[in-house]
Amino acid sequence: MDELTGNTCIICGETKQDGIHIVSEFICDACEAEMVHTDVQEEKYHFFIHQMKQIWMQRNA
Ligand SMILES: [Zn+2]
Repeated sequence: MDELTGNTCIICGETKQDGIHIVSEFICDACEAEMVHTDVQEEKYHFFIHQMKQIWMQRNA
């Protein structure tokens, strides 16, 4: 992976330049927008974070 060209989104797995970092992980703009759109309640947000960490751990297993 080339960090100069972008970051690998832990949600969609694509390499993007624009996005945010949460818990040291990268989420691209598209997935961030999806997450914000889904962010109806804080509980759901934390669930989303939990899911992302699971995905990340699987990818790095
Ligand atoms: Zn993404």
